[in-house]
Amino acid sequence: MASVQFKNVSKSFGEFVAVKDMSLEIGDGEFVCLLGPSGCGKTTSLRMIAGLETPTSGSIEIGESDVTFKHPKDRQISMVFQDYALYPHMNLADNIAYPLKVRGESEQNRHKRAQEVADVLKIGHLLERVPAQISGGQQQRTSLARALVYPSKVYLFDEPLSNLDAKLRLEARGFLNHLQRDMGMTAVYVTHDQAEAMALATRIAVMNEGEIVQYAPPIEIYRRPATTFVANFVGNPPMNLLPVEAMIADGGISIRADGLSMDPLPVSARAAKALETGKTLTLGVRPEHLHIAAGGESNTISGKLFANENMGPESLVTLERADAARFTARIFTDDEIRLEQNVSLAFEARHVHLFDADGLRLPF
Ligand code: ATP
Repeated sequence: MASVQFKNVSKSFGEFVAVKDMSLEIGDGEFVCLLGPSGCGKTTSLRMIAGLETPTSGSIEIGESDVTFKHPKDRQISMVFQDYALYPHMNLADNIAYPLKVRGESEQNRHKRAQEVADVLKIGHLLERVPAQISGGQQQRTSLARALVYPSKVYLFDEPLSNLDAKLRLEARGFLNHLQRDMGMTAVYVTHDQAEAMALATRIAVMNEGEIVQYAPPIEIYRRPATTFVANFVGNPPMNLLPVEAMIADGGISIRADGLSMDPLPVSARAAKALETGKTLTLGVRPEHLHIAAGGESNTISGKLFANENMGPESLVTLERADAARFTARIFTDDEIRLEQNVSLAFEARHVHLFDADGLRLPF
């Protein structure tokens, strides 16, 4: 296994800059997810590690070695593709053993090793079949087996679970998590599914428009999103975000918006400076940190019930304020709440996030 480093890497396609001055250090044995919306540059970054794209500027290192201009086959990497990229005319044994064949291993060794890896992945009984004769989940495991059959320094995954149905996807995710803990592989994993990134990654690099906006362990990204973009992208349903007027008053941060009632928040030196003259900020509260107000609570937001979706173990209760902005709570309730009924949702001050006018987190 080995570390991977991006040093000021940019990649342009003609005039278009797909990756902008990216610096990223992936430690030996880390499982890093590149997470972001479609077109943000995730796949291009992964392909540059693989050697399938060459950076326009900057360099990439694997271990101690600068691989920026190295041929893919000289990088000791394995890659799992979204569409599995299996050879349709070869049976599973030959598909899995293919990387060994390319490297000149004997037929006997190839088949022994393919069988071992296939057994671990529970497809050992299917080796004589061709890809068209197995299910999507089995094809996914075949492509994983092919990536694992030969020891690599880094394993690269390009949305490998996105063609699976929801149930198989969860199963495969659990399997990958187990494999990572078992092997301690260095992996770079591209996804636009925040739940997948949260479940698998040791660190997540959240990308937007070719840049990394935050690089941190999943729990840090969830608890302290660096920007409103990250706050909105990670979490399901996303964090509620609301423009508010904030100023220093009575030794705390006083926050005002229609339908919002809040005790002043404690104030840090940085926030005090930022708010000396009063500012429009963005207030954030996650749906799971809201509950139906019991009365007498100090931090509440009120509006009319817009939707109440019962999901079984929980409900998504959405209220709409006079300005049409919506706030969603994830709560456990069997209560029948009628549409248009006035609802107050309450939250604790410690669950409040504040972002400045540029969308950057404002510690307080
Ligand atoms: P997705 O989740 O949709 O795969 P992504 O985040 O992986 O998106 P990339 O595939 O890295 O995004 O693409 C980043 C941007 O670069 C996109 O706007 C894409 O259209 C553009 N791009 C990628 N490859 C090329 C290419 N070979 N020529 C021109 N533009 C490209």
